[in-house]
This record gives sequence, structure tokens and C-alpha cells, in this order.
Amino acid sequence: MRKSIATVSVSGTLAEKLEAIAAAGFDGVEIFENDLLACPLSPEEVRARAADLGLGIDLYQPFRDFEAVPADVLAGNLRRAERKFRVMERLGADLLLVCSNVSPGAIGDDELAAEQLRLLAERAAEHGVRIAYEALAWGRHVNEYLHAWRIVRMADHPGLGTCLDSFHILSRGSDPIGIEAIPGEKIFFLQLADAPLLAMDVLQWSRHYRCFPGQGNFDLAGLTASVLRAGYTGPLSLEVFNDVFRQASVERTALDGMRSLIALEQSLDGVSHPAVPAGFAFAELADTGTLGGLLSALGFARAGAHASKPVELWSQGEARILLNAGGQASHEGPALVAIGLDSPDPGGAVKHAGSLLSPVLPRERAPEDAPLDAIAAPDGTEIFFCDTAWLADFAQGAPAVAGPGQGAPADGGITRIDHVALTQPLHYFDEAALFYRSVLGLRPQESLELPDPYGLLRSKAMSAPDGAVRMVVNIAQVGAGQHPWQHLALACDDVVAVARRLRDEHPDLLLPIPDNYYDDLEARYEVDPELRHLGVLYDRDGHGGEFLHLYTVTAGRVFFELVQRIGGYQGYGAGNAPIRLAVQHAGA
Ligand code: MG
Ligand code: MG
Repeated sequence: MRKSIATVSVSGTLAEKLEAIAAAGFDGVEIFENDLLACPLSPEEVRARAADLGLGIDLYQPFRDFEAVPADVLAGNLRRAERKFRVMERLGADLLLVCSNVSPGAIGDDELAAEQLRLLAERAAEHGVRIAYEALAWGRHVNEYLHAWRIVRMADHPGLGTCLDSFHILSRGSDPIGIEAIPGEKIFFLQLADAPLLAMDVLQWSRHYRCFPGQGNFDLAGLTASVLRAGYTGPLSLEVFNDVFRQASVERTALDGMRSLIALEQSLDGVSHPAVPAGFAFAELADTGTLGGLLSALGFARAGAHASKPVELWSQGEARILLNAGGQASHEGPALVAIGLDSPDPGGAVKHAGSLLSPVLPRERAPEDAPLDAIAAPDGTEIFFCDTAWLADFAQGAPAVAGPGQGAPADGGITRIDHVALTQPLHYFDEAALFYRSVLGLRPQESLELPDPYGLLRSKAMSAPDGAVRMVVNIAQVGAGQHPWQHLALACDDVVAVARRLRDEHPDLLLPIPDNYYDDLEARYEVDPELRHLGVLYDRDGHGGEFLHLYTVTAGRVFFELVQRIGGYQGYGAGNAPIRLAVQHAGA
């Protein structure tokens, strides 16, 4: 289907917007009036610029507060419209968005609204322009899409149709099924925006929190399916007002918008995700020699070295960690640089990622190395899709030189990687949600805001349906941003036993937890007093599931968490994160 985007959705000047929108592969744009007003180019020059870039101007918007007004106001409104029609002729745009009247002077009279919109459509036709009438969710009298459609039907003019906007429909909780009764040729335009579910004034919600399809909580696929069943053949057009997108890189936002429409199309076509990951194959940490001791203390053993790169494989149970002493180790110390995912179909996963504009990263590979393709997550972390062939690259076994890890306990109680938590740049938080959902096939779980001593941490968790892969993306807001910590959570069957051993053998590795935390914990639950002694944190869900976890101190950007899930607990101990953050800040 044809794909468009409103210029208001991205940052920059109109010229910058057009360029980035074209580069992202869109077919057309909605010109948002303010972008034109502030633009030094004439409408003819904008038209030529768009044409050179291969972009059609699919809509000009918005025209406000037109219909259902007293006669004297109508005269002024028609004069205003005539001017806009002339601008549109110069732009080469033939569809004008008229949104329902919000002014206190508007009259609650559908027949009057229909009569005046018909008049507007007649005048517009003289300029080759058609009118798309949209119900704003906060319109004075018209705020439901079916109400706008009834007025359009009553006006009965071939140049007047309706514009459907997913936000205005879904934010009011309207059932989109009613769209299917509207004749497709009377749906002149479809605007798509998702949004997180927020209990707030709908106008503020719309102006600041819209996001691309797949980034929020609305069922965009269901609504779009209804529009298509009605017989609509026009563009899928993104119209997003978002405080963060307004500041972010225009190229990147445009590309992300395109990814959201491709993912939406794929879900409409019933394209199922070819390769939802079945587990973590490995986590790779850039490190110049500081992590071996910590891993060894946690019970990992050095299990091999890469045949052609300065990379070591450390393993315990099904948990595998690669320590890379190569180019990526930064002056900030250890950092999580890559994640390997067990994929039932690595080739299919890579192809799917490519279809969603996440191309394979160029990599250096020795001829004898296993073929292993990576794509970039929004924060730059490399994501590898693996079968088991990569392990052969480490087949030469542990290096001959003795060092940390040699002779470590074969089993320190860790069984596998439970989850990986990455810190996302603020501008790419929504992008990350869409990436993990569409490219990796993970499902969104909880979304939280956590207090940090110096700001606020927003956190979103995503997981494979069976919990085999769990990812958490965090963004630090306000002052918390100085410490972009990442962590690797390792599952164990008995975290208390592991904690006892660490307490005895490596007490300095454990993050100390304040006594006040345990005073509160013991007030809420009957927990083993030993948790306090060991620094193990505790959480319980509403279904009786329990979570026991502890943290190591931080090395560079990275720390480790040891977790034990009991009774189907699906969360991440989020309530304890502020305690952890406060201790980490104090020690940083
Ligand atoms: Mg709209
Ligand atoms: Mg965690």
C-alpha cells in the first residue's frame, strides 16, 4: 500500500523533513501547515522539491473550526478557505483535512454542519480540491468518527469524504468495527498513530504522546483491517505528535516510522515471525581483562578461545559469556556489546530483520569462522542470530596459559541467562520497543517508571512468549543519565545457596543492601531473616510467584544479577530497583 507521513511527525525544517521522509522510502507526505508557514521556499518550490524526491503531497492540513457556525462567521471561514485552496493549487495538493469544530461558538446542529461542509466542498471543487472531514476526539459537538460520517453522508457531495484517525477513534474507546459500514470511496484518508494507555486529558495525550504503530497499546492492525474491509484504497499515513520525536534525528525517526508501517502490513498479511528466539546463545562483553576474576567467582569456567579473535568463551550450565578484548573495549571499562540469540532459523531471522530495515552489519570474518550474522539494536548492541555452529569457533578449548577461570568450580549454581537489561538513549526508547517487538518477535510486558535518586528511570520489558528470552530496556531521564548501566541477569535454582557461597568467598563482589530495606520487607512478608544477612532481595506477585535476586558490584558499565523465579513469577523485581539504583549511585 501507499505509505505517507505527516511532516509534523519528524523534526527539522520542511526541506530536511522531505529529504529524510523520501530517504526512508515513503511515497507521500501530509504537509502540516505550520511547516509550510515557517518555510522560506514558495509553495511551487516545495512542490518541485517533493517531486524531485519522488514524494506526492497527499494531504494539506489542518483547516480548523469551519463548520456549524453562524452566517457571519461562515463568510469569514469561506474567505479563509479560498486562500488555502490557492495555496494548495500552488503546492499541487488536492485533499484538505478539515477537523471538527472545537470553538465555543460552534452550533450543535448536524444539518447546519452538513450544509456548510457541502458548500465548502463545492467551492473546493472549483480548485480541484476535495475535503476530508475528521472528528477530533475533543471536537465541540462532533467527536466520534461515526458522527462525522453521518454529517458527510448527509452533505452528500462527491468532493466531501471522511478522514479516519486511529488516535481519535481509539483514544475514545470507540469500536472500529463501525468503519466497515462506511463505503470505502467515502473514506478519503487514513491517519495512523498509536499511543500508550494514559489516563489524562485527551488533547494533551494526543499532542504529546502519540507514537508509531506497534509502539503503544492500541490495536492498529485491527483498526486498519476494518478500514481495508470497508474498501479503502488510499495511503496508510502516519500522523504523530510526540515531544521526543520532535527532538530526535529526523532520518532515524522517518526510518522508524517506515518500519512501523512495514510491520503493520506484515501483521495484516498474516506474516508470522519466522524465528522467535528460543533462548540466549551468549552475551558478549567488551573487556580488557577485568571480568575474568568476577566470572570465575560466580562459578564460570573458561571454556575456550576464539580461533582467530581475542575472544574467550566462559560458560556455566547453559549460560555462555564471551569476553572480547578486541577493539570495542572502551575506556569506560567493561560493556555489553553483543547478544547471541538461539534462533530456529538464523537465515530467516536475518531476512525478516532486513525486511524491517535492520540490515546485516558488516563484519570481519576469517574464512574458517562459522557464518554468523548480526544486526544492530537501537542502542548499538549487536544482535546475533545463532544456531550451534558458532561454538565450533571456540573448539580449541581453554588456552594453555593458566589464569583466572582454570580450576573454577564446574557448577556455581547458575543455569542460564535470564534477561539482559540495556540502557537506551532517550530518543530511541519507542524505537527500541518497536524493534524488539517487530524484528525479534518479542512481546511487550510491563512498562514502568522507577524513581532514581537523581531522576527517573523508564523501563520496558519484552519477552518471548515462553520467557526463554527476556529483554529490558531502560532510559534514564533527568540526572540519572550519567550512568548508562547495563546488566546481565543469570538464572539459578537456589540463589540463597549461591549467595551463601559468595558471602563466604567473595563478600566484596556483592552489592550491599541497606538494613532499612529489610525492615520494610519483613513488615510486608514473612521472609527468611537470612535474606538480610545475604543481601538477597525479594518480590512476590499477585499469583503467589516469588522472585529472589541479588546484584554484584558494577564493573565499568556492567553488573550482574542472580535471579531465582519461583511459581511462575514473570517480572523483574522492579520494586527493588530503586534500592539497587540508590546503592549504585552511592558507590559510583
Ligand atoms: Mg488527524
Ligand atoms: Mg534485572
